[in-house]
Amino acid sequence: MKQILLMIGMVALVGCGEKEPVQPTTPDTEAPKSESTKVKASGGEKGRDEKTVGLESYLPGKRIVIGQLVKSLEIWQNSECIKNMRKLEIAIIQWGFSKADDAKVTLDDLAPYLKAGTNSLKCPAGGKYILTTVGEDPKCSHGHSLDYERGDKLPPAKGPPPSAPLEFWQFNKDGTLQWGRFDENGEAKEAGNPRTRTTYKVTGPMEVTLEADDQEGKAKMIFTKPKPGKGDALTLRMPSGKEKLSKAPILEVTPASPLKKKK
Ligand SMILES: [Zn+2]
Repeated sequence: MKQILLMIGMVALVGCGEKEPVQPTTPDTEAPKSESTKVKASGGEKGRDEKTVGLESYLPGKRIVIGQLVKSLEIWQNSECIKNMRKLEIAIIQWGFSKADDAKVTLDDLAPYLKAGTNSLKCPAGGKYILTTVGEDPKCSHGHSLDYERGDKLPPAKGPPPSAPLEFWQFNKDGTLQWGRFDENGEAKEAGNPRTRTTYKVTGPMEVTLEADDQEGKAKMIFTKPKPGKGDALTLRMPSGKEKLSKAPILEVTPASPLKKKK
């Protein structure tokens, strides 16, 4: 996979809860029922006999893995590095609270104030973080800067594209929809709020309507193909009309399986 991928966070729509299940079938769609029952929603591989299967029989039991194209590696590296330096900045404030501005500070000093220690903060372009005194901003040796403003020239991209965990949407056979990510071990994990239950309903040849029990209105997921697969895309439109995902590329469609719960 050559594409540069970046997962984008989406929080609102997913999870499971304690409400009456909604059936994913819609009687008023046009797929030929006799044929579609042939390919049972076995959760198995993409059916061979797909020609006659509509979205409403295709989706249940599928996990749709998506990626988001990064505008450019430079932009991504810059924003990741700035995020790291913001964390360092906050740690400096905590550590240096009662110290003078010219007190020297090192990465080791800050380790106790960072969740995973200083090792968790790595410039994706391989820069090293330079700290001087409490009064000075952290710097990146690759040239990323907390002073960056939109339009500034960015340091050149260096190193591999991001290996951000991919995200997916899982259309369960009981009519619920779950949003998840793969963890470092490649295990599918629920990523949405586990107390929210989201259901889906096919409402058009390429359209699915989503309803979350903690949200008013309905979101829509629109595919570019009636049987979306690798190379197709999906758009997620929130009840407000805002597009949370715009033609996010579909990387893979696999059978759904129980997700590791979020703690
Ligand atoms: Zn950097």
